[in-house]
Amino acid sequence: MFDKILIANRGEIAVRVIRACKELGIRSVAVYSQADVDSLHVQLADEAICIGEAPSKESYLKIDRIISAAEVADVEAIHPGYGFLSENAHFAEVCEGCNIKFIGPPSSAIRAMGDKVAARETMRKAGVPVVPGSDGPVGSEEEALKIARKIGYPVIVKAAGGGGGRGMRVAHNDPSLVKAYHTARSEAERAFSNATVYLEKYVEDPRHIEFQILADRKGKTLHLGERDCSIQRRHQKLLEESPSPVMTSDLRKKMGKAAIKAAETVGYVNAGTIEFLLDKNGDFYFIEMNTRVQVEHPVTEEVTGIDIVKEQLRIAAGEELAFDQKNIEFNRCAIECRINAEDPFNNYQPSPGRIEFLHVPGGHGVRVDKHVYSGYVIPPYYDSMIAKLICYGRDRRTAMDRMARALDEFILRGPKTTIPLHKLILKDPNFRRGRYSTSFVDRLMSTANQAGLQLPTEDKK
Ligand code: ADP
Repeated sequence: MFDKILIANRGEIAVRVIRACKELGIRSVAVYSQADVDSLHVQLADEAICIGEAPSKESYLKIDRIISAAEVADVEAIHPGYGFLSENAHFAEVCEGCNIKFIGPPSSAIRAMGDKVAARETMRKAGVPVVPGSDGPVGSEEEALKIARKIGYPVIVKAAGGGGGRGMRVAHNDPSLVKAYHTARSEAERAFSNATVYLEKYVEDPRHIEFQILADRKGKTLHLGERDCSIQRRHQKLLEESPSPVMTSDLRKKMGKAAIKAAETVGYVNAGTIEFLLDKNGDFYFIEMNTRVQVEHPVTEEVTGIDIVKEQLRIAAGEELAFDQKNIEFNRCAIECRINAEDPFNNYQPSPGRIEFLHVPGGHGVRVDKHVYSGYVIPPYYDSMIAKLICYGRDRRTAMDRMARALDEFILRGPKTTIPLHKLILKDPNFRRGRYSTSFVDRLMSTANQAGLQLPTEDKK
């Protein structure tokens, strides 16, 4: 096992990795920007090195500074977390070139899955079902119109280098497609410096179901079951649960097999996630692979009892997976609510600033992964997620009741958060019955708005 590693990230995921390191007897080195001096990851790591100014481009995305920090601290490996450089194949190559282990897949696998157009093609050839759409990038609005007429409206224009729900536009007819094509391209150019877009059939009211994969260097690839991530705002996940309320053991077998096939096709090693859309007929389609640890990995950990971050470290250190597919049991139900510093009732506007007071819930079956505390000032430069509340129990009802109880116990004064929205979701009869799709949150919000929703006073702060 490694003796010392560096974590090229911030926030709760940096804290999460430090915790795994401590339990495995690995020394940890944090890197931080000038805006993160007071962040918990800096205080919890064994060493901490400042790598630049607040904007990510000047710090967490600066490969040369991170490598210099790794060399100065003399670490054997780098954990990239999620976001930032975690899916940057060049960064993985630079690490390997400097004799530092990248705690993630080989750069070739990142590359193969990083371009979504190429990934679709690779999956199609491997026999993994993909959403009907364009064969490659779409070069002009005429071409987009031709393909859309062939596959039928509605369609979705997506960015080849996309992520975080950006560079994606739905179109229901020719004029809206022309508009969607140009907006998606310019958004993709701005966000990813890559204007390449492609077209998919827009699957109506699907569920987003993803499979957690673990693969070791000896060629053993397993799945840890699924997560249902259909509760989304603007195509970004908000609440995730495992198992999916619609999963059957037959479907899990089928989707799990396709997910393993997808990972094996690109020579995948380490932890990764295969994302699918499941339509109303029970047909599923690959949409993308995330070649890193996911924000929502804790729900799988609570269901299976497997520590995914420790497995990442073991795999990167060359160890074999100590269990087989048949040993993986799905004994519990777990739900995660993303607590973001944003105003769900005002267009999800970010709400950075000082946390005047924070009390997090506890008790049986409650886990809180976070990097903030009372008095912490949320900087405006980074992602708005400040905590993840995970609740689990023997069955879905217990997990839901526990989550509702824990959300009531969660007190955060200062910035606005997604907590009131989560409370609404947990109360919704359709959610309680497990009947929901990716359009659930939009529908819930428009009903709430029409009803002139009054929030409880303590939620208005
Ligand atoms: P990103 O990489 O930006 O997260 P994804 O391809 O993973 O993009 O898609 C994110 C979300 O967008 C999905 O969970 C789903 O809600 C929606 N989406 C993507 N593709 C389609 C599609 N073809 N039909 C319907 N919804 C889609």
